Amino acid sequence: MSVRVGVIGVGYLGQHHARIFSGLEGVELAGVADSDIKRAEEISASYGCRAFNEYCDLIGAADALSIVTPTTTHYKVALECLMAGKDIFIEKPITQDLDEAKALVAAADSRGLILQVGHLERYNPAVAAAAGMIDEPRFLEAERLSPFLGRGTDVDVTLDLMIHDIDIILSIVKSPVKDFRATGETIMTGNIDVAKAWLEFENGCKALVTASRLSKEKKRKLKIFQRDSYLSVDYQTQEVGRYFKHGSDISYTVLKPEQREPLRDELKDFIHNVVTRKRPKVSGTEAAAALEIVLRVTALIKGTAA
Ligand code: NAD
Repeated sequence: MSVRVGVIGVGYLGQHHARIFSGLEGVELAGVADSDIKRAEEISASYGCRAFNEYCDLIGAADALSIVTPTTTHYKVALECLMAGKDIFIEKPITQDLDEAKALVAAADSRGLILQVGHLERYNPAVAAAAGMIDEPRFLEAERLSPFLGRGTDVDVTLDLMIHDIDIILSIVKSPVKDFRATGETIMTGNIDVAKAWLEFENGCKALVTASRLSKEKKRKLKIFQRDSYLSVDYQTQEVGRYFKHGSDISYTVLKPEQREPLRDELKDFIHNVVTRKRPKVSGTEAAAALEIVLRVTALIKGTAA
């Protein structure tokens, strides 16, 4: 039997959710909902499903919902889906507030529902390729730079972009953060547009993370420095460079895993989790952990840290 999936919010990213779900085996795209009905109709015509103006009307027609609305709406929409007993996929960041994230986790757990969060880079083939070569990292450096596109500006760049790298770094370092420093600035949007954070972990590892939506070029890289080697992960080319000590020289190899569409793998995994009732690798708990760090960084930049 097919899983009936509904996509709520079919703007820039939601259209790709609709495209992918419409072609996934074992899935019936039950409908798409958007507060802009013209947009919902346009996407529904492309993928042969029903269009809804009110997402509440789509909830009843689906077994699982994918929430791809602006971040500021995630909590309200997600809570309604969970209260109706539906499994959900929410795009990152889970919410803009930690208490709201925890409330969603509790609502899902108490009902035995799947809550998966769209930390897409977990499904990047370069991240998977690097995972097998990570050995006691001591220092990580992440850069996520984007030209100004006007999207995602309802929240600070820390919540929109930096959270990707914070989630990946937490999954690699696996130690609590003990100290933070951060700086950043509001330039274009009324929210933080450029940010730098310095994290120190209890196990001694350190990380420097940069995020900007005011860059000339698009760059998404993670460097992992560890004993005898360093790895350079390029999220865009999906390649990993490995520099390692070879006698008194430094050798270099590059890994080029098979190119994949991370969003397809991520949504396929969501359906697998819905069918098998398996806990997602990025559940609400992991997403809330990344959100907590990002909110502390944001508060430091804004000078509102407790
Ligand atoms: P967008 O503005 O292009 O699209 C949002 C859509 O939601 C619009 O069509 C809008 O009309 C609709 N909408 C707004 N409120 C609604 C409501 N209450 N009910 C129904 N529809 C509503 O935004 P986007 O760039 O697609 O981003 C959406 C979400 O996806 C954000 O949370 C963002 O952080 C996330 N995102 C994640 C990634 C990633 O790499 N994982 C990339 C881009 C965006």
